[in-house]
Amino acid sequence: MTTYQVRLRSREEIADRTMAFHLEKPAGFQFKPGQYIDLALINPFETDSQGIVRTFSIASAPYEDELLVATRMRDSAFKRVLAALPLGTELKLDGPMGSFTLHRNTAKAAVFLASGIGITPFLSIVREAAKQKLNHQLYLFYSNRRPEDAPFLAALQDLSQSNPHFIFIPSMTEMERSKRNWLGERGFIDREMLVKHFCDLSGPIYYVAGPPAMVAAMQQMLAKAGVSEDDIRTEEFSGY
Ligand SMILES: Cc1cc2nc3c(=O)[nH]c(=O)nc-3n(C[C@H](O)[C@H](O)[C@H](O)COP(=O)(O)OP(=O)(O)OC[C@H]3O[C@@H](n4cnc5c(N)ncnc54)[C@H](O)[C@@H]3O)c2cc1C
Repeated sequence: MTTYQVRLRSREEIADRTMAFHLEKPAGFQFKPGQYIDLALINPFETDSQGIVRTFSIASAPYEDELLVATRMRDSAFKRVLAALPLGTELKLDGPMGSFTLHRNTAKAAVFLASGIGITPFLSIVREAAKQKLNHQLYLFYSNRRPEDAPFLAALQDLSQSNPHFIFIPSMTEMERSKRNWLGERGFIDREMLVKHFCDLSGPIYYVAGPPAMVAAMQQMLAKAGVSEDDIRTEEFSGY
């Protein structure tokens, strides 16, 4: 792991109360899709007891010329500062870290289970897989309350159209509160939803990322369905 100073290039809202931050990629910075970084504010104009560092999965893919992170904009001093930083401001970056990366055996499918902001490591993995034309069969189950809340929904739909190895199954849990139309799945990710899309639940390697409660719920669901612990990999976004 190395420490870098990187500039904020741009930021935009990508879903309800959710922002993406585009950072310079330092020369020589190499990472694997699924890894994360620590970002620290330098002399922020305000702080609170939670401090000036947060961990973020890298949502961009290694082939891209920038680093992308995305986060739910909760009311912490860190996020208020991040939302207001003048473009070009430097941040301290430590990384890359983590081993939440795609297995090598292309004969085994990968099943990604994400909700909300837990999508970030998977976006990096599926973008890089498409670019490198990897032969793994990839399934991404992605649950959100409404399409309005779902970061990168359109980008992922596009990717699944262009990559026959990538099956994308987004699901909405509160369409009654949405202003959009939705023809896809509804409800939380559960055993029935998985079985509908592939028959043998014990074949693939499962990857789960998100807030600790979501990770625990998915682990429990998979264990009940008879999936071996050895085939389940998790990344907890502690702090939510
Ligand atoms: C491996 C990993 C990957 C993550 N990826 C993402 C992501 O892609 N997008 C995203 O939105 N969130 C991600 N998180 C969670 C993120 O780091 C924040 O905890 C979360 O966004 C809540 O921050 P907050 O300012 O809204 O809340 P707050 O309540 O202000 O902060 C949450 C708590 O976590 C602590 N904390 C968070 N990060 C760190 C850190 N790096 N070092 C020390 N303490 C810390 C804070 O001090 C505080 O106690 C990830 C976490 C981990 C561990």
